[in-house]
Amino acid sequence: MTEQNSPKSEIVEADIRIGGRSIHFSAQVSNQPVQPYEMLPLFQNITNKVIEIGIDEVVAKGKQISCRSGCGACCSQLVPVSKAEAYALIGLIDEMPSAKQAEVRARFSQSMERLHDVGLLDELDRVIIDGDKDKLRAIGLAYFNLNLPCPFLENQSCSIHPDRPLSCREFLVVSDPAHCAKPDPETVESVVLPKRVSAILYAMCESKNNTGKGFLPLIQILANTVSLQNEQSPPEPAIDLLNRFLNKLAG
Ligand code: SF4
Repeated sequence: MTEQNSPKSEIVEADIRIGGRSIHFSAQVSNQPVQPYEMLPLFQNITNKVIEIGIDEVVAKGKQISCRSGCGACCSQLVPVSKAEAYALIGLIDEMPSAKQAEVRARFSQSMERLHDVGLLDELDRVIIDGDKDKLRAIGLAYFNLNLPCPFLENQSCSIHPDRPLSCREFLVVSDPAHCAKPDPETVESVVLPKRVSAILYAMCESKNNTGKGFLPLIQILANTVSLQNEQSPPEPAIDLLNRFLNKLAG
C-alpha cells in the first residue's frame, strides 16, 4: 500500500488479490480521527467491487444473476447489519421527512411487536451471542416464515438502495427468483463471493473486550439506539481504519 501525504488528507493506493484477480484501490482519506460509520461510503464501494468479481465469475460459468429491481422476495429475511451500519441507518431514519419517518418507525415497531408476541426476540439475542451457525440458520428460517418485510421495503423495492447494508448487497442469486419466496438451499442458488466484506466490518465493530458481537439484526436497530450510540468505537485516524480494513480484505 502506498500513501501520499497532505496536511488534511492522504491518498491511499492498494493492490489486493481477491478471487484470483488483482483489484486496485485508490482513495483520498482524511487523516482526522473518524468512527467506522463515517467510512461506510468507502467500504460500500469496495464491497461493490468484490461483488463485481463474484458476478464476473458466475457469468464466466454461463450463469446469470436473476435479482431484478422490483423483486423484494429476499427482503423478508433476517438481515444482519454491522453496528457501524446500524448507527448510520438510525441517522438516515432521523433525517427522513417526518411523515415518512413515522411510517418507517411504525413498520419497525410492528415487526418488533410480532417478534415479541411469538417469543422470537429473546431467542434471537441468545442465538446471536451464542453464534451457533445451525441455530442461526433455524432462527433465520423461523423469522422468514413470519413474513415480516424489511421496514425499508416499499413497492417491493429497497427505499434506501444507495445506503443499503453490505449484507443486502452481497445476497445475489442465479436461480429462478420464484424460489426466493421459500428459501431452501436445494432450490435457491446464491452467488458465492470471493470475500464477504460484511464479515470484515462485523469483526471491526466487535467491542474491544470481545463481549459484544459487531452486528445485530436490522429489525432491532431502533430498539438498540442508545446502546448503539454508546458502543460506537472511539474515533481513530481514518487512514488506520482503512489500512485495518484492507489488511483484513487481503488476508
Ligand atoms: S435494506 Fe433494502 S435491500 Fe436490505 S432487506 Fe431492507 S429493503 Fe431489502
